[in-house]
Amino acid sequence: MDVIWNLTRACPWDCAICCVSGFHVCNTTEHIIQSAQKEKGKELTLAEKLTVLKILADKDFEIDFSGGDPLYYDEDFRVVEQATRWLPAEKLVLV
Ligand code: SF4
Repeated sequence: MDVIWNLTRACPWDCAICCVSGFHVCNTTEHIIQSAQKEKGKELTLAEKLTVLKILADKDFEIDFSGGDPLYYDEDFRVVEQATRWLPAEKLVLV
């Protein structure tokens, strides 16, 4: 089974055709926007993301990481990094 996981909707781009309703971030706004989105329940915390990852890994899913920009935030990079420990490379895709 294959899952496309939008790790975040944060993105440094601002495409008119965005199909994930990405929210634009830049160096000066990234942490303010991330906190606000988490407070509203619109973004998962790192702990929540790792819990989801563990569930998917235990069920042997293939995971396509997407977003937003799935490597924009350090914590999302940590999620992908952890995925490489729990799943073989052929089960992971970065879109
Ligand atoms: S998530 Fe993709 S489509 Fe949306 S703004 Fe970012 S780069 Fe553009």
